[in-house]
Amino acid sequence: MGNGQETPFNGEKGTDQAAESSLFPTYARYPISLVKGEGSWLWDDKGNKYLDFMCGLAVTNLGHAPAKVKEKLKAQLDELWHVSNLFQIPGQEKAAALLTGNTCADAVFFCNSGAEANEAAIKLARRYHQKVKGTGRHEIITFTQSFHGRTLATLTATGQDKVKEGFLPLPAGFKSVPLHDLPALEAAISQDTAAIMMEMVQAEGGVYPVETEFVEAVQALCRKHGLLLIIDEVQTGMGRTGKLFAHEHYGLEPDIFTVAKGLGSGFPVGAMLGKGYLREAFSAGSHGSTFGGTPLSMSVVAATIESILEEEAPQRAAESGHYLMKRLNEELGGNPFVKGIRGKGLLIGIECAGPVNDIVLEGQRRGILFVTAGPNVIRLLPNLLVTKEEIDQAVGMIAALIQEHAAVKQL
Ligand SMILES: *Cc1c(COP(=O)(O)O)cnc(C)c1O
Repeated sequence: MGNGQETPFNGEKGTDQAAESSLFPTYARYPISLVKGEGSWLWDDKGNKYLDFMCGLAVTNLGHAPAKVKEKLKAQLDELWHVSNLFQIPGQEKAAALLTGNTCADAVFFCNSGAEANEAAIKLARRYHQKVKGTGRHEIITFTQSFHGRTLATLTATGQDKVKEGFLPLPAGFKSVPLHDLPALEAAISQDTAAIMMEMVQAEGGVYPVETEFVEAVQALCRKHGLLLIIDEVQTGMGRTGKLFAHEHYGLEPDIFTVAKGLGSGFPVGAMLGKGYLREAFSAGSHGSTFGGTPLSMSVVAATIESILEEEAPQRAAESGHYLMKRLNEELGGNPFVKGIRGKGLLIGIECAGPVNDIVLEGQRRGILFVTAGPNVIRLLPNLLVTKEEIDQAVGMIAALIQEHAAVKQL
C-alpha cells in the first residue's frame, strides 16, 4: 500500500490496512456502481436496471441526460469552457435573466453548490445590515431540523447537531428555534438579528412542509423588525414542489433565496437570488467565486431552466405529486408501519414506525432507488417528468417492500 515516503507526522503513509479506498470515508456507500442513466432509469456495471426515485438527491429534475441540456452542453464544449468573472460572460447574463424573469428576484450571484449559495446569502444579509443600513446586525435565526450545508457557516446554521460534531469552535452569529414555535422565534429576535433563514419544506430533516400561518407570521416578524427573509430552496427549487420555487405556494417574496441541486441537471452549480435593494450591499470585490457562472455551467443552467419551463415541469410535478400521494395513501393508508405520508409536489416523505434503511437496501436489490430523510422516513424524489406508469410501478414496489417489512416485524 504505502510508497515508503514519510509523512510529516510519525505514521508511515499507507499504514492504514483497513482502507480499501483512496477516498476519505465521508459516505457509507451502497455496493452499487451506476454507469448509465436515461430519463427515470439507471443501469449498474452488471447490467441491472433501476427505477430512480431519488434523482441523485433532487438533482436530475429533468431525468438523466435530458436531450436539450445535453445538446447545449456539447455545443458549449466546442466553444469555450472557462473565463474569469473579470470579463463579460453573456451566458451568465442570460441564465440570470431567465431566473429573474421567472421569479420575484432582481439579481443573481452564481456559485457551485447549495452550501456556497447559502454562504453568499448569509454574507449578503450581514453586509446589507452593516454596510447599507449601518447597524451591527449579524445574527441569522434558523430552525431546528433544518439543513443548510456543510461549510462551517452553513453547518452552524443547520438545526441538526449531528453535522456539527467534532467541528468546534463554530462561527458566532447563529441561533436555531423549533419550527412552528412562534413565541420561541419572537424571543430569539434581538438587536443583533439580521435575517431569518428557512426551508419551505424541511427536506433532509424529515420532509416537513412549513405551515402557511407560520410562514405568514415569519414574514410579518421580518417586516416588523427590519429583518431579511432568506429562503433555502436548494432542494425545493427548480419545480420540485409543483411551483418553480416553493415560496410561490405561499405568495411569499423573500428578500433572498438560494438554489442549487436541480439548477444544473447534474452539473455542479448554485445561485443566490435577491431583491434589487440588496444590490448595493455587494460591491466589486466583496464576494466572488473562481468557478461561479462559467460559460460551461451557464449553458447547462440556461438549457435546464428553458426545458423546465417548456416542459411545464412544475405543473407536471404538482399533478404527479398528487397522483403519487393518492396511490401511496391507497396502498399504505392502513399499514401499521406507516405513521404518515406528507410532502409537496414530488418531494414526498413516508414516515414509518421504525428504521427504514433495510427497506432502502431491499429496494435496491429489487431495482428501485430511493433515500431516507432521518432514520424513520422514506423520501421519494422522482424526476419531474416521471410517467404515470413509472409511478404505478414504483408504488407497487414500495408498497410491497413496506408491507413485507411490516409482516416481518409482526406489526
Ligand atoms: C443539499 C442541501 C444543501 C447543501 O447543498 P450542497 O450542494 O450539498 O452544498 C443546502 N440546503 C438544502 C435545503 C439542501 O437540501
